[in-house]
Order: sequence, then C-alpha cells, then structure tokens
Amino acid sequence: MSDTGGGHRASAEAIRDAFRLEFGGEYRVFVKDLCKEHAGWPMNNMEKSYKFMVKHASLWKVAFHGTSPRWVHCLYLAAIAAFYAKQVEEGLKKYKPDIIISVHPLMQHIPLWVLKWQGLHKRVVFMTVITDLNTCHPTWFHDGVTRCYCPSDEVAKRASLDGLDPSQICVFGLPIRPSFCRAILSKNDLREELEMHHELPAVLLMGGGEGMGPVKETAKVLGESLYNEELHRPIGQLVVICGRNQALRTSLQEIQWKIPIKIRGFETQMEKWMGACDCIITKAGPGTIAEALIKGLPIILNDFIPGQEVGNIPYVVKNGAGVFSKSPKETARLVAQWFGPDYEKLKKMSENALNLAQPNAVFDIVKDINEVVQQRGPLTRISYSLTSSFMYPI
Ligand code: UDP
Repeated sequence: MSDTGGGHRASAEAIRDAFRLEFGGEYRVFVKDLCKEHAGWPMNNMEKSYKFMVKHASLWKVAFHGTSPRWVHCLYLAAIAAFYAKQVEEGLKKYKPDIIISVHPLMQHIPLWVLKWQGLHKRVVFMTVITDLNTCHPTWFHDGVTRCYCPSDEVAKRASLDGLDPSQICVFGLPIRPSFCRAILSKNDLREELEMHHELPAVLLMGGGEGMGPVKETAKVLGESLYNEELHRPIGQLVVICGRNQALRTSLQEIQWKIPIKIRGFETQMEKWMGACDCIITKAGPGTIAEALIKGLPIILNDFIPGQEVGNIPYVVKNGAGVFSKSPKETARLVAQWFGPDYEKLKKMSENALNLAQPNAVFDIVKDINEVVQQRGPLTRISYSLTSSFMYPI
C-alpha cells in the first residue's frame, strides 16, 4: 500500500483484519509500503508529490491521463524497477511473502518484475485489489497477477479490455474494514459515546484522509442553514472530520458556532462517526463512499479528484444514493431540506445506499485468496535468493 490519500491503507487494514477474523493465526499479514521503505526517489516520496499534485487539479489531470498509455507507464516503471531492483528485492527478502496483495495502482509492475528476476513469479501468489470504483488508472491492470479483484462491473470491464483473462478477474466489491459491517452499537449509544446531541439530525462533513475539498466553506454555510433564526434554535448538528489537515481543524475551531458541532482530526473509528450521523458530505473518495453506503448514509458529493474519482459521481447519483453539488450554499440548502420537509427523500436515499452497499466484499476476497492458495497446496517457505546479476531483463 501507500499513504497516497487514506483509502489504500484503509483497504489494506480491512484485508488484514478480515484474514484475522476468518483464519485466525493461519496467515501473518504485514501492511507495508514497499516503495517508501525500499526504493528511492520518486517512489519514496509519493505521498508528498501526490498531495501536491491533487491540490493542483490540472497538474494531476495531466499526470493521470499522460501516463495512461501502456507504453508510457511501462517504460517509466521499468526504469524505476531496474534502478531500485536491489532495494526492492531486499524488501521482499525481509518478509519472504508467500502471497503479495497490492492495493495500489503503482504496486504491480515493480514487485512483479523483481519476482520475475528472482524466478519466483510462478511460486508467489500475487493479487491486486483495486480500490477505485470506476474510472481507475490502467496501471492497476497487470496480466502477471493471479487475481485482480474489481470493486464493480465497470472496473471489471476495463480490466477485461486491458487484456486480463476472465479467470483473473473477480468482482466482490471494495474491501471495507470489518468494523463497519460488524458494528453493534445503536445510533443513540454512539451519540452518547461521542458526546453528540441526542435528538438533532446530524450531518458528517469530510474530505478523505487529507481533509480535501471545500470543507471549511461548506461548514460555515451549514452553520447558518442548520440554525432557525425565527425559533432561535438549531435544526441539525454538524460533525467535521478534518483527517490529516491540521490547518483546517485549527481554523474551524476558531469560529463561533450557533449549532452543536464536533471538529475532529484523523479518526481511527470512522464507523462510529458514520453510524451516529444521518447523511454525509464528502469528496468522491471511493473508500468513504463505500463506507457511507454500508452505513446507509445519503451522500452529497462536493468535489472529486480528476481521473480516478470522476466515475464515482454517476455511481452514487445514478443509483439514487446521493447527489452531486460543488456549491457549498446549495449543499447546505439541501441538508436543511432533508432535515425538514424532505425527510422522506433522505429516507429513500438511505434505503438505496444500503441496497448498493457490499459489506461482505472484504470477506469474499480473503476467502477467495485462501481458496486459490489451498488449491496450490500447502504454503512452503519460498527461498528468496540474492540475485548476483547486475543486469535485469524486463
Ligand atoms: N479516514 C479515516 N480517518 C479520517 C479520515 C478518513 O480513517 O479521519 C478514512 C476513510 O474512512 C476512508 C479513507 O480514509 O476509508 C479515505 O479514502 P477515500 O478513498 O475516500 O479518499 P482518499 O483519502 O483515499 O482520497
């Protein structure tokens, strides 16, 4: 995985937890950023460069679409692989994996080439779990993998068009942390635990792991629209999760609010906050969307990262689980309506969200991985030898 955004780590941890729940101590799962720990620039700097590029949308657009043709990204990744082969190899030798599961678009080519150079590509099971719901980057698709788990039929179609064999493609859904589908506390209990108002409907506002998008502007107008000036009382409450965006958190804390509000940083128990709220406003991040669907939260999508998140908007809107609005004012107006005269609309969207949710995807994925591994016979300690050659054929 890599911490570019919050979704890849969340999916990796979901898979690790599901392995634990399904198979106890049968598997040891390490969640690792191979390139950060065992490669040099630019791979060890991906978090920073990704953050910079997605802030400058047009730059990211060029990078995303410019590297989409196979020859471009293959050339680029092959050069990096050849340059850092020894270090990546050392990284693999540290853990000697029997199975490698990639949850990142840039984590196919390099490890697969290194395995090939080691003569291990036929023995180590290599799985890709795609964490984008629709318009994903083609580097996700590598025909050298044992399985490519696609979260939607749309992604499976893309995988097939990109040359993957039907036997490699499986569609189960996006892997979400088991704590989301195995939660037992009621909304009231959660509100008690999180010290929220017990009665008022609640809207959750966030922007992925990095707290991106128009979070501050939207919070400010929600602070107005959820307060009834005539009755001098709030009609709703607000939870803002700023993720790793500390500046956003600090600036929101400086505002005088007329409605009950919780302003939080990076939360490790997102299922609780989602379970305590009635709807969510978020950028079109696939992880947040899939989690919100499991919790039956109607979604207002207020932003998207060009490229991989564009297709998430029709996925939500066409399925009646939410709406798209880039305007903070319109967003705040919608929420006030949902918490008032349009309550039935909110309820209907919540039902649609639950119908679209795939809470068992992560369990289906780990069970399938286990089955593939069982078919190959018992796992043996694979010997990762040190390659002595200085030339790496691609
Ligand atoms: N997330 C979290 N704590 C936070 C903010 C976000 O655990 O404080 C998680 C969120 O639940 C989701 C992921 O980070 O699983 C964000 O993934 P998404 O695909 O929505 O957006 P990204 O951050 O990857 O662009």
